[in-house]
Amino acid sequence: MIPFLDMKAVYAELKPELDAAFARVMESGWFVLGKEVEAFEAEYAAFCGTRHCVGLGNGLEALELVLRAWDIGPGDEVIVPSNTYIATWLAVTAVGATVVPVEPTPDGPNIDAGRIAAAITPRTRAIMPVHLYGEPADMDAIATLARGRSIKVVEDVAQAQGAKVHGRRTGSLGDAGAHSFFPTKNFGAFGDGGAVTTDDDRLAERLRVLRNYGSKVKYVNLERGVNSRLDEMQAAFLRAKLPRLDAWNEHRRRLAARYDDRLAGIPGLGLPQVPQWATPVWHLYVVRTTRRQELMAALDKAGIGSLIHYPIPPHLQQAYADLGLGKGAFPLAERLADTVLSLPMGAHLPESAVDEVAAVIRATLA
Ligand SMILES: *Cc1c(COP(=O)(O)O)cnc(C)c1O
Repeated sequence: MIPFLDMKAVYAELKPELDAAFARVMESGWFVLGKEVEAFEAEYAAFCGTRHCVGLGNGLEALELVLRAWDIGPGDEVIVPSNTYIATWLAVTAVGATVVPVEPTPDGPNIDAGRIAAAITPRTRAIMPVHLYGEPADMDAIATLARGRSIKVVEDVAQAQGAKVHGRRTGSLGDAGAHSFFPTKNFGAFGDGGAVTTDDDRLAERLRVLRNYGSKVKYVNLERGVNSRLDEMQAAFLRAKLPRLDAWNEHRRRLAARYDDRLAGIPGLGLPQVPQWATPVWHLYVVRTTRRQELMAALDKAGIGSLIHYPIPPHLQQAYADLGLGKGAFPLAERLADTVLSLPMGAHLPESAVDEVAAVIRATLA
């Protein structure tokens, strides 16, 4: 049996550290916005290579609050990938702005920077690239497009904590990086959590006010904020995990390299293509095949977990039916949704599991 993702392995590895973090917070008697969050913010900003980190309630609100902090709203346009998890779009529409979807590169999964220029209008306020599956988007090209046009760039780093472009961390490559610490992410908490990393002093300050009811001083409200705070317990857990993140991501890269090797040359099977400048962190290892149903059934029969990320692109979701973007509006995103399959991947998956998964795939497709 090879589960898609083993969610208990982290506790088995880090039990003493995580138990100590739990005890520290319980004994402190302080649970929201305290020393743990402050220390985590400093440590995670240092990890990402940014001046600031602001701990928030989750990744969706991290994206949304960045847009709010920049006063992006009705009448404004934000360029988003057509191929992404729906949260990217939800953040834009939540502030009342308009999503302008751009298709991925031919092999996917990330936004095709070469198609962004054609989507820019006088109303474009921001570009929101997503480092999908932990594979960095083309941030050099995106930064070049945004520069001199006063267009902001906010990275959706939810799936790519620790990834790099030319040796620089994702989350430090745009004007802001929005992170999710949802438990299944590469850097997950044991509950919900999120953060924004940035070098922008004003943005960080505004986010600290927005996350806490629009207040800096208790009971003095500067604006209509929200309640979106990383809590002390999750911050303490994340502090225990952060020193291991690079090693865990390195293990994921070993697994991905092994998949690349063991799956090479299987007819009709598309493997991930990584550009020279990118250091991915393989949140997911995603192959493409038109024989997906058959392959999933064979894996399932062998006791191997596999999942589809994602079966329906945002523009075809009922949630966005009002946009009138029907089938055929974004054919590349639609083709990916019809053919992608995520194989078992995780910081604690043994390398031998890759060989077993690959053997089933080869026997099914070759
Ligand atoms: C998980 C995820 C989010 C949202 O994060 P939450 O913490 O679950 O709100 C946003 N974008 C992408 C690409 C994600 O994978």
